[in-house]
Amino acid sequence: MSFKDVMGHERPINLLQRAIAQEKVVNSYLFLGSEGIGKRLVALQFAKALNCLDGENKPDGCDRCLSCKKIDHRLHPDVSLIEPEGQTLKVDQVREMQRALAYRPYEGRRRVFILTAADRMAPNMSNTLLKTLEEPPLHTLIILLANNPRWILPTILSRCRSIRFNPLPAHLVSDWLTKEKGLEEKEAHLLASLSEGSPGKALEIKEEIAGIPRKKLLRGWMGAKSLSIEEQEGWIEYLPSQRENLHLILEMAKTLLRDLVVVKTLKDGSGLIHSDLTEEMEEIAGGWDLSSLLRRMEILHQTSQAIKGNANTRLSLEAMMISWAEG
Ligand SMILES: [Zn+2]
Repeated sequence: MSFKDVMGHERPINLLQRAIAQEKVVNSYLFLGSEGIGKRLVALQFAKALNCLDGENKPDGCDRCLSCKKIDHRLHPDVSLIEPEGQTLKVDQVREMQRALAYRPYEGRRRVFILTAADRMAPNMSNTLLKTLEEPPLHTLIILLANNPRWILPTILSRCRSIRFNPLPAHLVSDWLTKEKGLEEKEAHLLASLSEGSPGKALEIKEEIAGIPRKKLLRGWMGAKSLSIEEQEGWIEYLPSQRENLHLILEMAKTLLRDLVVVKTLKDGSGLIHSDLTEEMEEIAGGWDLSSLLRRMEILHQTSQAIKGNANTRLSLEAMMISWAEG
């Protein structure tokens, strides 16, 4: 694999390739973007392009030379991937990197250190790293990968060239899941819709999705015109108990309502995220008018934003149920 094989991320890749072509690669980069989106993959292709022994593909790796192959197999002595041991990156890991920085590259042109989870560093580690970034040795490249710039010290941010990675379009994630991971189209489509543009997240939520009662969510909640007090209380009990899956369930609920709107407006099941539930969708949508569905969608969206912003889950859900009943 090389730059040309990476799915999406044209803008970051163009920036990096231009830097190579114009010999303007700086000593430290910060790649920002959601977990699982492809930052690590691009960083590795960057390391390959910089150290490739075959000049023909410049500014890309050739994928055939010894250097490209060693990097692919994580066997290149000058390219290190530093990942957290447990929850955070440890200060020893940075010290080890500092020791290695004192030497010239063994066999490559550039010594490359890729620090994943740079937003999960202990404070003393940030200071150690800062010293390195202030006086970067020649022939070195440090690439920090992070999801959230808010957790990175401004002094570190200011010493790196930041490159933002945007979410991938759902259709690209879906294609990748079917072609590269062998998933069925229906499942790939659903996972891609809930992945927020991150192929890594799509794979990660695969198991969790299977445990979410989609039909029950549709019939018993999203699509139900009125709910008894017991039913309302049931949902208000159920959701906070799901903790880690809560956001995923609310995102799933949004896609169910979205599909009901699609069925209501287009009067057919093509383009549904939950295409396996088309019959149920058509039956339920028949009992609704469009403006009520849209209103319900809006209230659900506001509720899920509030919960994401740390509002009390139970109170937010109660308020949502009351607004729904009023509509
Ligand atoms: Zn090569």
